[in-house]
Amino acid sequence: MKDLRSLTLEEITEYMKTIGEKGFRAKQVYEWVSKGVSSFDDMTNLSQSLIEQLKREFRLDNFKIIQTLKSEDGTIKVLGALWDENIVESVFMTYKHGNSVCVSTQVGCKMKCTFCASTLGGVIRNLTAGEILGQIYALQNMTGERVNNVVLMGSGEPLDNYDETLKFIKLSTDEKGLNLSGRSITLSTCGLATEIRKLADERLQITLAISLHNPIEDERIQIMPITKKHNLSDLMSSVDYYIEKTGRRVTFEYALIDGVNDTERHAQALGALLKGKLVHVNLIPVNAVVENNFMPSSNNKINGFKRVLMDKYRLNTTVRRELGSDINAACGQLRNQHL
Ligand code: SAH
Repeated sequence: MKDLRSLTLEEITEYMKTIGEKGFRAKQVYEWVSKGVSSFDDMTNLSQSLIEQLKREFRLDNFKIIQTLKSEDGTIKVLGALWDENIVESVFMTYKHGNSVCVSTQVGCKMKCTFCASTLGGVIRNLTAGEILGQIYALQNMTGERVNNVVLMGSGEPLDNYDETLKFIKLSTDEKGLNLSGRSITLSTCGLATEIRKLADERLQITLAISLHNPIEDERIQIMPITKKHNLSDLMSSVDYYIEKTGRRVTFEYALIDGVNDTERHAQALGALLKGKLVHVNLIPVNAVVENNFMPSSNNKINGFKRVLMDKYRLNTTVRRELGSDINAACGQLRNQHL
């Protein structure tokens, strides 16, 4: 069975042709899907026979919330079941400038970053574009609020699920669909340079975020094995290419881990690596994951690190306010099972 939410209007139109239905039916169905309805029976302007046919061939409600956790800061984390009973997590956050959701792109992850909970059990499968969208619909339906920003920062490596991620971006930015602006979508990657170049050629307006976490090659390998496949110079050249093709500022994420990557030497190396580029640095005190012993750097260290980047290297640098860590909803804490 296919996810109806994975289909573009054109694909639904094609389908309607094959079953002898008129073109305007496709538009009606696509409008319902875009409203986020979770039952075919809610598509009240369709004939009963068409509804029955759709039910036989497509899946609609593809992310069923089975648990909801609310943080003291208002962040909501949901566990959602997919049709095959796999579980992924998504997070709803409220900021001054609107509502953001953090969605997963894979069940688990195979990238093996040592500080991240999402990768502990490896990857189980890719999500479809419709399942990524389904997380947004489920959160909108639950909260009654519209989502303004989406970060592809849940479990999974979006560029390891390239085609479905790209289709998700196309569907969610479609004017007749969710109609998000490209700029309100952030795609975060641990550094798949080949796919970064491919993405650059799409010339999308989305924000690319690179999870860097260490500017020194042989140290980055220790915490992020992807560095063996794409070394830092390969990664940086793909980022340069991305900036050149899209004109978009790229974000570098840097989780500060006490005693691991937070020294003056690291700040200097990071500054030297990024100096003069169209980038923004986001410093994040590392979040606790029970299976590893990493501790966040002290505020003092974080501020010192920030000062080197800003004062010496003139890099635009912010410290990310972490939301939802009391419910394991913060960066690197999402997983595909109950804890
Ligand atoms: N695979 C993608 C998407 C995951 S995004 C990527 O690597 O970018 C999740 C973000 O949280 C990434 O920047 C990741 O490096 C970061 N992260 C992972 N574990 C973390 C932790 N324990 N504390 C803080 N950030 C973490």
